[in-house]
Amino acid sequence: MSTDPVALHAPEHLAAKRLAEALGLPAFAPGWVWLAGAGPGDPGLLTVLGAHALAGADVVLYDALVNEALLKLARPGAELIYAGKRGGKASAKQSDISRLLVSLARKGQRVLRLKGGDPFVFGRGAEEALTLARARVPFRIVPGVTAGIGGLAYAGIPVTHRDTNHAVTFVTGHGVDGHLPALDWNAVAKGSPTLVFYMALAHADEIAKTLIDAGRDANEPAAIVSSATTGEQSVRVTTLGELGAEAKTVNTPALIVIGENVRLREGLDWLGALNDGRILIPDPLGRANLRDVS
Ligand code: SAH
Repeated sequence: MSTDPVALHAPEHLAAKRLAEALGLPAFAPGWVWLAGAGPGDPGLLTVLGAHALAGADVVLYDALVNEALLKLARPGAELIYAGKRGGKASAKQSDISRLLVSLARKGQRVLRLKGGDPFVFGRGAEEALTLARARVPFRIVPGVTAGIGGLAYAGIPVTHRDTNHAVTFVTGHGVDGHLPALDWNAVAKGSPTLVFYMALAHADEIAKTLIDAGRDANEPAAIVSSATTGEQSVRVTTLGELGAEAKTVNTPALIVIGENVRLREGLDWLGALNDGRILIPDPLGRANLRDVS
């Protein structure tokens, strides 16, 4: 089955059609659900496959963290359904969303489920996909740029760097019951030099204390990056010891990153250099470890 020829021959979709042909992108067939990541905020961080899905979808169910500018890529007449919690609106229940995905697909719709970041990173994408699998509804997963990688890149913080960390751990600060997740926190503290936390603002104090108790240095650098990649992006650089107090003054959505790689921001805050004329320091680790010769 191919994508709707009427929709794709509309002039505004010729570009999308050419792109799909040039890259050999898969057709969005009726009765399918595509679960796609929208990226962390900057609409330019949507993948090409995500844009193709938007152009082909009959109905789009999108979450609170999805940049609504992306919905302009939907074909005219596509149904746009908001399925998130924001501004006091009631949160759509997870089971209701999954049920809606199944019923729309069974009606022969091309259903796009669009989620912030990557659908399989702390995004319940797997829960929804498993419901589809149980209902025998065919689906495709379209990965996205996750906030914990792309959002940090916009803050000038590389998620790995060989002089600071050979490993990184992604952690959610939000367990199933709203408390800290039941993890082996000693292992988390010791497991890798860099820790990236999602949904951790409310528990930042408790997390920092737990990590320090488990042996992390209270003086090691930490950063809180909020509304990453959007026009409202803000970055606070602090220490693990001060993290809890700092987190109280920051708005969501926010990421917390702990580790020496935070110091690289002094040299890599390309966005600050672009927007505010920030001077970048070429040797932020102070190790005279510059490898390239100018
Ligand atoms: N699937 C998403 C994560 C969803 S969980 C992804 O892959 O990025 C929601 C959490 O993601 C937020 O609480 C926050 O910690 C983080 N997040 C998402 N977008 C963000 C942004 N633009 N800036 C900072 N944090 C963000």
